[in-house]
Amino acid sequence: MTKLQPDEHGHAHAHGLCQHAHDHSRHAAAGLARAEKVCRERGLRLTPIRRKALEALYADHKPVGAYDLADRISPPGGRRLAPISIYRALDFLVEQGFVHRLSSRNAFIACPHGHGANEAVAFLICEVCGGVDEDSSPAMRQAIRGMAEGRRFETSYQVVEIVGRCEHCREEAAGSRQ
Ligand SMILES: [Zn+2]
Ligand SMILES: [Zn+2]
Repeated sequence: MTKLQPDEHGHAHAHGLCQHAHDHSRHAAAGLARAEKVCRERGLRLTPIRRKALEALYADHKPVGAYDLADRISPPGGRRLAPISIYRALDFLVEQGFVHRLSSRNAFIACPHGHGANEAVAFLICEVCGGVDEDSSPAMRQAIRGMAEGRRFETSYQVVEIVGRCEHCREEAAGSRQ
């Protein structure tokens, strides 16, 4: 599989064990700037709640559930944001292609790749560490397109979720057996 274009820092993965904290904040800043720009171009508004939700998803490279996200972006000591507000903000972010929804985790993850919201993507989800890597390839996109066209099916969201163990966790497991 061909990797998605890495971002400007050459940092294309989204692993929970990644240690490049400084890259992550630059990464988040670039992602937010891109979202602002795209919203301006589309005549949409990145409202404070949408912005905060996106920021919080960028801050964590593991998928985050809506309730967990509500806790993270609610004002400290203030009232917790209503789930409906969070869901509306997340729907917007998914529709605009800034965030992906992972059905198998019932959670959301920021997408730094800047592709279309209806682009076919795959997620490799580690069931040990919870790390998630987004990937795609022309062959995969073509196979999905062919499948949909064969059934006269119009796609609106094309996400393949692959669950298993990541390289890091496999190495760790192999190491502990020695
Ligand atoms: Zn993506
Ligand atoms: Zn793992």
